Amino acid sequence: MSTTAEPEAELFCPGHASCPGCAVALAVRFVLKGLGPRTVLVIPPSCIAVMAGPLPLSSMQVPVFQTAFETTAAAAAGLARAFRARGEEVTVACLAGDGGTHDIGLQALSGAAERDEDFIYVCFDNEAYQNTGNQKSSATPWGAWTSSTPRGKPTRKKDIVEIMAAHRIPYAATACPAYPADLLAKIERARTLGGTRFLHVLCPCVPGWGIADDASLRVARLAVESRLFPLYEVRDGLRYTITHEPVGVPVKEYLSAQARYRHLTDEAIRQIQEDVDQGWARLVGRARALPPRAFA
Ligand code: SF4
Repeated sequence: MSTTAEPEAELFCPGHASCPGCAVALAVRFVLKGLGPRTVLVIPPSCIAVMAGPLPLSSMQVPVFQTAFETTAAAAAGLARAFRARGEEVTVACLAGDGGTHDIGLQALSGAAERDEDFIYVCFDNEAYQNTGNQKSSATPWGAWTSSTPRGKPTRKKDIVEIMAAHRIPYAATACPAYPADLLAKIERARTLGGTRFLHVLCPCVPGWGIADDASLRVARLAVESRLFPLYEVRDGLRYTITHEPVGVPVKEYLSAQARYRHLTDEAIRQIQEDVDQGWARLVGRARALPPRAFA
């Protein structure tokens, strides 16, 4: 278990425009604490952009460059190169949603990862286009109700960590604001490395997932403890380390906590459980295949 102490500095101010109980807002707070004050953010359209606020107002105590959906990684690559040319030590970090990462920004992100551009990219995954009314993204899981999949999404969730790991980038990891020490340790680890570093952070959405505004972290814990969203990291696309051993609660407990899965039949839930079990077995196999190496 990680023992990373939580940095005291608050770089994300209260009074921003997130919904009450938003897990993205909490995750952004932890990520900014981990990144520290010598950070420049690149933010595409998303709930995070709404929270950052329109000029001249900002909820963030570091510079923010709000960019187009498609250009997040390209803008970050350019900024990182410019700071390096000027001899300035600045962490460039992208804070994007799943629509901006899995869908619209993927081309620029893949290109930047192939070139091993020097930035940290954090995807806050609330599993749909939530700030425009809960339309499905390619991060929406199979079976989930959204406003554009009224019978449940008929296709699978895109596995973005595997896609990024396949680029053989130095660091890719999953995280969750319900496990802040684990999240902070991963940001710290990413900061010690160079090149393209990627974090995939699962963040329950109050209106989109149909949960109470005090339920985000409970639902997030169920995602992790049911092994539906395991916490792990991948070095150089090859070395997998599971960073939290989940209890293995039935996935039904996670699904039944959310209105977006209310229509699922017992058979559909059984299929999801089977899928989760297979995914966990695959991950354990990968973690055993190559021994974890001490991080520099
Ligand atoms: S729509 Fe969802 S992700 Fe966006 S601010 Fe509200 S709770 Fe957070």
